[in-house]
Amino acid sequence: MTPLYEGKSKRLWTTENPHTLRMEFKNDATAFNGQKKVSFENKGRFNNAISTLIYGLLEQRGVPTHFVRQIDDTNVEVKKVDILMVEVIVRNLSAGSYCKRTGIEEGRPFSRPIVEFSYKSDELGDPLINDDYIREMGLATADDLSFLRQSALKVNDILTEFFAKCGLKLVDFKLEFGRLLEDPSRIVLADEISPDGCRLWDLKTGEKMDKDRFRRDLGNVMEAYEEVLGRVKQNLL
Ligand code: UDP
Repeated sequence: MTPLYEGKSKRLWTTENPHTLRMEFKNDATAFNGQKKVSFENKGRFNNAISTLIYGLLEQRGVPTHFVRQIDDTNVEVKKVDILMVEVIVRNLSAGSYCKRTGIEEGRPFSRPIVEFSYKSDELGDPLINDDYIREMGLATADDLSFLRQSALKVNDILTEFFAKCGLKLVDFKLEFGRLLEDPSRIVLADEISPDGCRLWDLKTGEKMDKDRFRRDLGNVMEAYEEVLGRVKQNLL
């Protein structure tokens, strides 16, 4: 069998149901737009477990998502969506490209969360874009954008509170959304929510518990992911 689509960290496969896909979490990790690449044993398993639990929490709190069910350790069944080519990033503290862009040091809390958009294009390195770019590029309507912003802030509220219970600071994260193939008028949260796409710092020690350990060669990458999974499980189950 060949996958329908293979990305940097996931593969998508068809299922018997024409309205759903199987999303497989790979062990591959990439950073700096795919220039740095390593495979970590168990990464797919940890991310699948974390993402499945987080999606359960979000659904329970009224956030519509693509999630259907967990199939096994590394696979979930998801509704077919047409992914919007806009990535939505929410920031609570300065880090990553925000610091690069502004020269501001890492770890400065914002008075209110920052929501920003980037154009989902590996070729261009996911450049930052604004509402006007999105309108002119035809990536989403003004109504879609206000829905994305509102949903991202709601997800931020839910996850900030939840990760705090886990002893983790939610610094920033990236969300992707898609239009349901069954009903394109409905936009749902898609992709994964895991330490690959969220910055999480230990509340007590400030230690990084996310993909920055890989980006910056800090070591113990999977130990951190496993620790995040343990805390998520403990606070949800
Ligand atoms: N992020 C992601 N995929 C991307 C870009 C960003 O998952 O293609 C996540 C990243 O892990 C971080 C947040 O979005 O939690 C903000 O990332 P930033 O814009 O600072 O980019 P970075 O410098 O981390 O690439």
